[in-house]
Amino acid sequence: MDISERWNHIQHKVHTACERVGRDPDEVTVLAVTKNASDAMVAAARELGIQDMGENRIQQARQRLADFPELHWHFIGTLQTNKVKHCRDFVLIHSLDRWRLAEALNGQGKRWLKRVPVLVQVNPGGEEQKHGLAADEARRFVLQVVDSCPHLDVRGLMAMAPYVEDPEDVRPVFRWVKQLQVQLQKDGLDVPVLSMGMTNDFEVAVEEGSTLVRVGSALFREEV
Ligand SMILES: *Cc1c(COP(=O)(O)O)cnc(C)c1O
Repeated sequence: MDISERWNHIQHKVHTACERVGRDPDEVTVLAVTKNASDAMVAAARELGIQDMGENRIQQARQRLADFPELHWHFIGTLQTNKVKHCRDFVLIHSLDRWRLAEALNGQGKRWLKRVPVLVQVNPGGEEQKHGLAADEARRFVLQVVDSCPHLDVRGLMAMAPYVEDPEDVRPVFRWVKQLQVQLQKDGLDVPVLSMGMTNDFEVAVEEGSTLVRVGSALFREEV
């Protein structure tokens, strides 16, 4: 399969997942994760009409922004507070997971005279090695950020499910994130974005309400 066939395949899977649960496929954006893709591959993805791209390392993300300024770059990786100054041009930062980072990004937003668009990263699986807020603190954290950081624009939640053989096993994780979103909406927040689902589990994530799936290998790797 070449990249355009792989892209059709991914879109087809998103559509059928939406059909199974009665969702409108237009609610779901596929974000192409380019961390292992060459510049030629990024250009090929762009020619297919893919606009949203994601990188998980700040150095490479900045390079991509410079090389492909016409695309919408998301930052999806762990962010150190001393790197926030490089984050002005991302359309969305998916990895706000601690208070010090919220303060640092808020301070930058003030300097840039803009509200920095972010997602709060949660770790409902409670995995130690993964970043993200634990289930019992996530809601309070989001409310606190919205309350205290006027230069942040919290658009929603991001989650990375643990890797499992059978993606059915992570359905409860995605369901929990969706429930947290519903709770926050009841709290009066405007948090429409749910960034969840990767190559291995994006169909389940879409069934459970994801609006932004982050797909790397399924798009860029020949053998998948
Ligand atoms: C690499 C990466 C992805 C994409 O993973 P695939 O399994 O290749 O689809 C998604 N999200 C984050 C945060 C990543 O680092």
